[in-house]
Amino acid sequence: MPAGLIRRLLGRTPDPIDEATWQQVAARVAWIAALEPARARRLRELATLFLQRKAITPIEPLELDPLRRATLAALCCLPLLEFGAEGLHGWTQLIVYPDAFRVNRSHVDAAGVLHEWDDELAGEAWDNGPLVLSWADVEADLDDPHAGFCVAVHEMAHKLDALDGVLDGTPPLPRDWQRQWARDFQQAYDGLVAEVDAGGEVAIDPYAAEAPEEFFAVCSEYHFSDPELLRACFPRVAAHLERFYGRSPSEGTACGA
Ligand SMILES: [Zn+2]
Repeated sequence: MPAGLIRRLLGRTPDPIDEATWQQVAARVAWIAALEPARARRLRELATLFLQRKAITPIEPLELDPLRRATLAALCCLPLLEFGAEGLHGWTQLIVYPDAFRVNRSHVDAAGVLHEWDDELAGEAWDNGPLVLSWADVEADLDDPHAGFCVAVHEMAHKLDALDGVLDGTPPLPRDWQRQWARDFQQAYDGLVAEVDAGGEVAIDPYAAEAPEEFFAVCSEYHFSDPELLRACFPRVAAHLERFYGRSPSEGTACGA
């Protein structure tokens, strides 16, 4: 055996996702089962990198076996299929709660009054810190993949958004594209906020009207889980996301389609 090959074999980090595990991930995750073979291979490579670079910490009593870890890695890497592994920069930990978790919030308003409240979350992405997910919510997304929700994609969208140092609903993009993106997203966001403020029923999760960065994260969930609804509501936003994330694996597979 040539020395170079021996060195390569010895020096190679073992693949943390074996073939049988990957097949089980694809069987569990409709979005992965629907990917073209080349994109599925790319996703597996990204998920492998994810498992090598990120510490995944379950909070008791949750336990994460290799299949669950590979599933989480693959879900978090779905938004990186076109963007690539640079999307993993800037953080090292994925914390997974068994269920939705409570966080204590506080805010000092313009009058100097401290407001404190509890939020119950399915996921959270800290600036330069961990990404946090609720396993029960991840499973609910997998059980109903065309309902418009994917908490892993939502939190990863925040991570991509934050890569340029500002959480504003615009990830790092080539300059011309970024300008068009900012204009089209702002217009769609303003329209949604006006509808919500007027008390009207909106077709997508009204949480998207909280802030421009939430609009981007929520629309990212729809790109993967209900692209037709996203296109019907915000055609320009849908087109940007298709360019950014690639063709949705739910395209043409939603109920009734
Ligand atoms: Zn969010």
